[in-house]
Amino acid sequence: VTTEAAIVAGIDLGGTNVRIGLVEGDGFELTQEEKFPSRVELGHGQLIERLAEAISRLGKGRVRAVGIGVAGLIDAARGYVLFSPNFPGWVDVPLGPGLERATGLPVAVENDANAVALGEYRAGAGQGARYFLALTLGTGLGGGFVFEGKLFRGATGQAGEVGHMIVMPGGALCGCGRRGCLETIASATGLVRMVREELLAGRQSILKDAPRLGAKEIDRAAREGDELAIEVYIRMGRALGLALANMFNTLDLDVISLGGGVVAAWELFMPALREQLDACLLPRKEVQVVRTRLGDSAGILGAAGLALDLL
Ligand SMILES: [Zn+2]
Repeated sequence: VTTEAAIVAGIDLGGTNVRIGLVEGDGFELTQEEKFPSRVELGHGQLIERLAEAISRLGKGRVRAVGIGVAGLIDAARGYVLFSPNFPGWVDVPLGPGLERATGLPVAVENDANAVALGEYRAGAGQGARYFLALTLGTGLGGGFVFEGKLFRGATGQAGEVGHMIVMPGGALCGCGRRGCLETIASATGLVRMVREELLAGRQSILKDAPRLGAKEIDRAAREGDELAIEVYIRMGRALGLALANMFNTLDLDVISLGGGVVAAWELFMPALREQLDACLLPRKEVQVVRTRLGDSAGILGAAGLALDLL
């Protein structure tokens, strides 16, 4: 890296929106940020062109490398998206090589949950941790490990799929085709599913007549004292506490961070989580469960970190 501060672009490529930011390497600071619709129906060729256009417009020729976080199974070594739940029909898409051709810049492609973990490690809740796991609780539940400053990807790049840890054998059907995954309980989808099942069984709740049922509505109902809403957060807290204890016990992690939209309900699920965690942890030193600090910017910053590593 030259004396002039390197500028890199970090991209959080979601199914609905693309978020792109410029990061100054020196202070690892996000200097510019923009959001636009992903428009996946236009195909990946179009998307690559629009990404290249945004990088050139925002960076004005100063960007030196690009990092992208995208949901799904990623071959980080080749920069290929092997499969993505957000982009139906994307199989073996050469996202990295395509964007390299379009921009003339080196490009790193990584799983989005891994990018979030790296962002939180470098600038957020994972700073100073040696064996760190960052979980993102949104529509689903994603995870990424950073061990001794480096992403831990596993043998085939799929490490961190904590959302598919089975916590309830024979439980609810998961998007992965199996039953009882953590994600079927500890995610927005999981909360909505649990509420719907109870309503169908005749449970009384202020959510019964809600025009829209999502994590936000359940959060609000719980704060208004709705028993069903309070109960699903307790179930989520217990399932998470069990999973976290298993992670701490088997991997000897020091910090696990929790982020994503569902974590807005922190006070509602944390007491049950702590209780279950304490009951299941092996006797050992203190463990830390903390809230993420970077919010929506974690993915961009993590992707930017990967870009900086390319220089
Ligand atoms: Zn699953």
